[in-house]
Amino acid sequence: MIPVPGFEGRRIAVFGLGRSGLTAARALKAGGALPVLWDDSVSSRMQAEAEGFDVEDLTTADWSDFAALVLSPGAPLTHPKPHWTVDKAREAGIEIIGDIELFARAIAALPEGERPNVIAVTGTNGKSTTTALIGWVLKQAGMTVHIGGNIGIGVLALPASDGVYVIEVSSYQLDLTNTFAPTIAVLTNISPDHLDRHGGMERYVAAKEKIFRSRSTHKYVGIDDPEGRAVLERLRASRQAVDEVSVAGPLEGVTGMYLHEGWLAYNIRRTRNAPVERCKIVDLSKARSLPGRHNAQNAAFAYAVARALGIPHDTAVEGLLTFPGLAHRMEHVATLGRVRFINDSKATNADAARQALSSYERSFWIAGGRAKAGGVDDLEDLFPRVAEAFLIGEAAGPFAARLGDIPHRICGDMATAVKAAAEAAAATGRDEVVLLSPAAASFDQYPDFEARGEAFRAAVLALGAVPASAS
Ligand code: ADP
Repeated sequence: MIPVPGFEGRRIAVFGLGRSGLTAARALKAGGALPVLWDDSVSSRMQAEAEGFDVEDLTTADWSDFAALVLSPGAPLTHPKPHWTVDKAREAGIEIIGDIELFARAIAALPEGERPNVIAVTGTNGKSTTTALIGWVLKQAGMTVHIGGNIGIGVLALPASDGVYVIEVSSYQLDLTNTFAPTIAVLTNISPDHLDRHGGMERYVAAKEKIFRSRSTHKYVGIDDPEGRAVLERLRASRQAVDEVSVAGPLEGVTGMYLHEGWLAYNIRRTRNAPVERCKIVDLSKARSLPGRHNAQNAAFAYAVARALGIPHDTAVEGLLTFPGLAHRMEHVATLGRVRFINDSKATNADAARQALSSYERSFWIAGGRAKAGGVDDLEDLFPRVAEAFLIGEAAGPFAARLGDIPHRICGDMATAVKAAAEAAAATGRDEVVLLSPAAASFDQYPDFEARGEAFRAAVLALGAVPASAS
């Protein structure tokens, strides 16, 4: 755990006692603060009390002596309307922060020479993969690495020790920061997501852009979408050094990183007026777990960060090639005869599903769940790659209407969809792919995308498929 100094002897309101809330309370207490905890859920409050925390009803508490409100990223700061604790904190004139900000304060409190490097990754898609990949590459290079934040272990539960912190940060978490200044910051990409909670695209982008608040931060921005390009331009306009990453196509005559015939490559100029030279980095088709153009983007960031930290080219490349991949992200789960089953349950929006669909010439596509705004409208250009769609959850009807003439069936639940897709794929007698890439949230049928991915895995294995790890 990372104790948070700076609030010694002061009362701090902590609202939302999920994993990150409780961890924040522990870290504050360890730093000498007096956290005062509250949650709407009685069982969460009981758990906090059992741990010896001061649990007080924040609806009636005296807010005038609180030093800050530590808010769970699950509670709305602004939209659809501010959480009631936010109103109370504003009335009392105290700051509203989250666990990433507390982490930042803990780091800033260390003497200058002892502050660890912090690498932070945000973006609409690819955060977890890029975070895990950077962590993996640094580990392969022999560094001590702590990986966490919005992925795996909450940031304040990571060890307080030497090493490099590689943390994933969501837009909600960034909204609750005001001094967080990572050593290296990565913005993978931006497409519309969670707009209801941020109150529109502009505010969503503004939250993400907070990762670049500090001028001393080394910055990398993905510029394959218009919002990323706009962020880049704003940073450059304010004279900040920033490196761009694009894998949309080969770059000709200009410097930068790109993807060319399966290779990750970059163009450099050795001296100011020298012609641009093309340098190959790695043939990504040789990588164990980085299929698709989107993963080239993730790999580009990881390579750039590794090199920025002084890791030699060969070691960085070796790290990219050996990355084992993350569960539920285009994860090859199992094979049955000539049919491969791919679990991309993490594709909770159309843009993420686009990456998976475009990675295969054709697929038997399992999609649906709780639809996001726009549903699968933006995927229409990829529909010709869908051999047949098998639709589940609340979105099945609307997705079916959108698919029109593309063969599709409404299957309702996962087991039915997997069985039907497996049979249809096997019937062609060719090499085929059954792809779960829902383009929708999981909450209508599952607690989270992990549970949905595990349901897919279980249904696939129940058909007698051979797990990929065994082959
Ligand atoms: P996040 O943590 O941002 O949700 P993940 O790394 O978990 O991102 O990937 C989520 C989904 O997004 C995956 O299913 C994958 O298909 C897709 N994806 C991964 N990387 C990218 C990227 N760089 N650009 C677009 N989509 C991506």
